[in-house]
Amino acid sequence: MRLANLNGRATIVANDGIVDVADASNGAFSASIEKCIGQLDKLDAWYRSAQPTLTQKIALDTLAQDTRLGPVVRPQQVFAIGLNYRQHAAESGLEVPKEPMVFTKFASSVCGPNEQLPIPGPSTDYEAELVVIIGATLRNVGVDEALAGVAGYCVGQDYSEREWQFRGSPPQFSLAKSFKNFAPIGPWLTTADEIHDPNDLSITTRLNGETMQDSNTSDMVFSVAELIAYLSSVCELRRGDVIFTGTPEGVGQARRPPVFLKPGDEIVTNIERLGTIHNVAVAP
Ligand code: ZN
Repeated sequence: MRLANLNGRATIVANDGIVDVADASNGAFSASIEKCIGQLDKLDAWYRSAQPTLTQKIALDTLAQDTRLGPVVRPQQVFAIGLNYRQHAAESGLEVPKEPMVFTKFASSVCGPNEQLPIPGPSTDYEAELVVIIGATLRNVGVDEALAGVAGYCVGQDYSEREWQFRGSPPQFSLAKSFKNFAPIGPWLTTADEIHDPNDLSITTRLNGETMQDSNTSDMVFSVAELIAYLSSVCELRRGDVIFTGTPEGVGQARRPPVFLKPGDEIVTNIERLGTIHNVAVAP
């Protein structure tokens, strides 16, 4: 099942249209997407048996670009992982980390999938990322049981202002990656049961139509399950929390010459089976 936040209301995304969860279920399920994420199995069972009529007929590609889409969750905690793809570590001239390298994108940077991206500095960069949405309270979970705690997955961008990131010593990741709209997620949540292996999905960024990143989540150093187990050994993960799982090679910073974003640029990010998000860079 695919679940979107459309105008702030939980909305099921069918192949040919959308279903407003609260209206179609006569209030049996909440319009709050957070509440729906707490009962995804029940919601899925109701949807399959009730087969509600569409609230609106709309093609998937059209819906994916709809500016009414909000962030699929408003997380309490946003975890992000640096250098988690082998080829990205290589292009950065750095060794593959022996333990996950963890930072945060502050929660106010999270936004809907198609928001405009104000450019705050001279070296704003793109990073396509698989985003994991946690579905349960998790603490000290093992690798084998970690994926059972995932509500679903979506596409994200970990936009980064490199000058801010690297001007101090040591580098400062979290602030440099938390400017307004630096964490678009979406276009919707695809429930975990639809994704057989989160570490076997193609992932791309196109900038003004040109492919800049083209990889597969199989190149991750630490798998999604390993990241969840590692994070939960320190932090309690909560329903609606998200993990940005790192970016593959091809970021602007690593190119010669570097490629940074400027107003007018169009950034299109796709992950196999999860959909596409669209951002246009604008002046701040
Ligand atoms: Zn990143």
